[in-house]
Amino acid sequence: MSDQHPAPVAVIGAGITGLTLAHLLDRQGIPVRVYEAQSRPGGAIRTSREGGFLIEHGPNSAQDTTPLLHQLFAGLGIADQLEYASPAAKNRYVVRDGKLHAVPLGPPALLGTRLFSGAAKLRLLAEPFVRRSDPDQDEDLAHFVERRLGREFLDYAIDPFVSGVFAGLPEKLSVKSAFPRLWELEQRYGSLIKGAILGARERRKRQDQSKQSAQSFSFREGLQTLTDALVRALGDKVHTGVPLQVLRKTPEGFALELANHPEVVRARAVVLTIPAHGYEGLELGFDCTAARQALAQIYYPPVAVVFCGYRRSPLDHPLEGFGFLVPCRENRQILGSLWNSSLFGGRAPEGGLALTVFVGGSRQPEHALWPEDKLLGVVADELRELLGLRERPDYQALFRWPRAIPQYQVGHQRLMEAVEACEVQHPGLYLGGNFRGGISVADCVKSAHVLANRVAGAVAG
Ligand SMILES: Cc1cc2nc3c(=O)[nH]c(=O)nc-3n(C[C@H](O)[C@H](O)[C@H](O)COP(=O)(O)OP(=O)(O)OC[C@H]3O[C@@H](n4cnc5c(N)ncnc54)[C@H](O)[C@@H]3O)c2cc1C
Repeated sequence: MSDQHPAPVAVIGAGITGLTLAHLLDRQGIPVRVYEAQSRPGGAIRTSREGGFLIEHGPNSAQDTTPLLHQLFAGLGIADQLEYASPAAKNRYVVRDGKLHAVPLGPPALLGTRLFSGAAKLRLLAEPFVRRSDPDQDEDLAHFVERRLGREFLDYAIDPFVSGVFAGLPEKLSVKSAFPRLWELEQRYGSLIKGAILGARERRKRQDQSKQSAQSFSFREGLQTLTDALVRALGDKVHTGVPLQVLRKTPEGFALELANHPEVVRARAVVLTIPAHGYEGLELGFDCTAARQALAQIYYPPVAVVFCGYRRSPLDHPLEGFGFLVPCRENRQILGSLWNSSLFGGRAPEGGLALTVFVGGSRQPEHALWPEDKLLGVVADELRELLGLRERPDYQALFRWPRAIPQYQVGHQRLMEAVEACEVQHPGLYLGGNFRGGISVADCVKSAHVLANRVAGAVAG
């Protein structure tokens, strides 16, 4: 692209947010270009195949929480490659006293489970009578859950769940920003239990087909199928290996200076979909101080992802389920494990086993930085103790994410207000990405739609 033929919209970052956004604009006939720092597009989504194993370096699956996903897959021609997690995926496990306990899926299972004590189960009966919090208060998730459901539920349900989703700590995360639906249930119904029951009844009345618990999905060849299809659809509009270095305002819009790109790129609108820490190295030729200070406060803990593949399962029983999560109270060295070959087909050779272990996060950031031999040794020890896996994997891979997932901590809403103010001050500038609107792949797709509508409205107007 040259100075003479500027595209109205420049999207910075080719993760799922930037690629989806660019694709949506492109489909509306709005000229768009994507500029990505790395030599490969896809951002956190990356799949590879080694020795008969299909390996996800980042996200392993996504949740089917919005019909926008299906529209996207149909438009890209990849709906036939979609794969839902096997029914066994509903079995999720949490470690207590060194043993795996199935997470109870309904009231009878809750009564029978040894994951929670009798006192913890009785405590749940009090939940509908706990007063709702002040809606203006930004409460952390730990206080919210302990107040409503009791300490044990926090320790053995919410704490492991939060480390599975955010690699985060309930004591730090804002319930309003990180789990807005939970917060809304309390505000609307005054009780999570009442809210779940009444919400389901209301959905039935409206004949709303959407389920409360979304299904996990991937693609036959892994999640990268999605970003690859987006890149294919965008063709030569995606430029890789060109990190944005300088962004200035011009009378017509913006001028962008990118490394490895000889020309200054001009655009009427610029959408940044880079991580919050990506702003550290960016030179902005206009005042965005408050937003930059806000973005600098978002913590991304390191996470190490360890893939373990066995050509023949070393276990004498099938590993059936989503995987297990480890509560902080258990004082173990890993956050949990996903059982890839139980979730989706083709993740391991026939009769083999593939699983992924997560280490570090906000709970134990230093663990994610351990040297490789120590990290792999610890993972092997934990899998031996928790799953009885004694054999060494035939194939092992370690992926480090030094700054993995943005933590929506208490005060996050205030930080996002500074980001919004920056957009108001500089029309044509949009700041998106997974620090805003949710961290999951599905939330990033939803956020891309919101951004696309805003950008299309402004560019057309
Ligand atoms: C280890 C891990 C496991 C996860 N597991 C799950 C899961 O199981 N399910 C789920 O739903 N979600 C999961 N997530 C979260 C989800 O994958 C991410 O939130 C999502 O993919 C982020 O997409 P994004 O486009 O917003 O950002 P990114 O994917 O981070 O993309 C941003 C892009 O911007 C580029 N960039 C940065 N600076 C510049 C610059 N100056 N110029 C140009 N480009 C730049 C980067 O190189 C990057 O490609 C996981 C994340 C991680 C890290």
